Amino acid sequence: MTRGLVYAEAGSPPVVEEITVDPPGPFEVSVRIEACGVCHTDLHVIETGGWGMPFPILLGHEGAGVVEEVGDEVSQVVPGDRVVVAWRAPCGDSCRACRRGDPRRCSNNLRPRRRLHRASDGSLLTAVLRSGAFADTIVVHEAQAVRMPAALPPEQACLLACGFSTGAGAALWTTPVQPGSAVAVIGCGGVGLAVVQGARLAGAGAIVAVDVVPEKLELARELGATHAVHADNAVAEVKALTDGGADYAFSAITSPAGLVDAVRMCAYGGTATLVGVPPPGRTLEVDLERDLFSPKVGIAVTHGGDTVPQEDFPFLAQAALDGRLDLQRFVTRTIGLEDVPAALDELHHPTGVRTVALL
Ligand SMILES: [Zn+2]
Ligand SMILES: [Zn+2]
Repeated sequence: MTRGLVYAEAGSPPVVEEITVDPPGPFEVSVRIEACGVCHTDLHVIETGGWGMPFPILLGHEGAGVVEEVGDEVSQVVPGDRVVVAWRAPCGDSCRACRRGDPRRCSNNLRPRRRLHRASDGSLLTAVLRSGAFADTIVVHEAQAVRMPAALPPEQACLLACGFSTGAGAALWTTPVQPGSAVAVIGCGGVGLAVVQGARLAGAGAIVAVDVVPEKLELARELGATHAVHADNAVAEVKALTDGGADYAFSAITSPAGLVDAVRMCAYGGTATLVGVPPPGRTLEVDLERDLFSPKVGIAVTHGGDTVPQEDFPFLAQAALDGRLDLQRFVTRTIGLEDVPAALDELHHPTGVRTVALL
């Protein structure tokens, strides 16, 4: 039986149930999922009553596994390839960003036709972020299937599909950290720690981690932060530690206060980057003259690290295999598929860095 974690309707808890999978069509491949990370965005889908997607919904978007079957016209992978399932897959030629050669701003990701159904009534499932990777087997566009070196274990590889790439990509590609520059990272959960890793890989001179939890600050130091400060007085402390402010400040918390602090701790000409999906209805209050214009501070937003997965995931995987990134430290717990609903709920008060379901 093929299992999937189905969120059937608003207000109902997600449940593991039997699903059926159509064969892949042209440019599509089926992937047998081996590991899928428990990411906050799936909780966001639940808490927003479906995030605007049609029900029933198949959860999961941080998957890695093995290509099982390929449809017609598929040229990039063959059965047996180990892959990460990317939820970003730039169209390449049909949106204006891709047409001018800027796929990191693609607004038209490639996607498969909907080929997954509830076994109970045959209804079509909507796969979260074109993935739906909390399932034994899924169908994705071949551009979403990014080949991985076999030496990278699936529970680490899957992190490249979302959380890790979001954080590291913010520092590497959204607002590329220049060698020797000063970086501040607000929030040292999994995504914030990945920003720290990306900033270190980019050659940042100083990396100041900001959080309220001492254990998280300690972990941030072990993963590359040069300084760690409590969030209470972070703006003043970051400015003191970085000779006047950060060149790049990243807010990896959902509260708008994180982005306000990020703006205010920037040096002249710095950039504050919003990382992660904020809850709906939050607003930003900054003083246009004092906080933005006079210090010439910009605000940027990353969507999943703005990656081009077919180029960037192999780069990150190789960096992990070389020891320049520490993906292993990000996997703090592995669970079974049936434990995912509880793990999603625990994201309200996360204890480790990342929980990964093994299928
Ligand atoms: Zn495009
Ligand atoms: Zn995610």
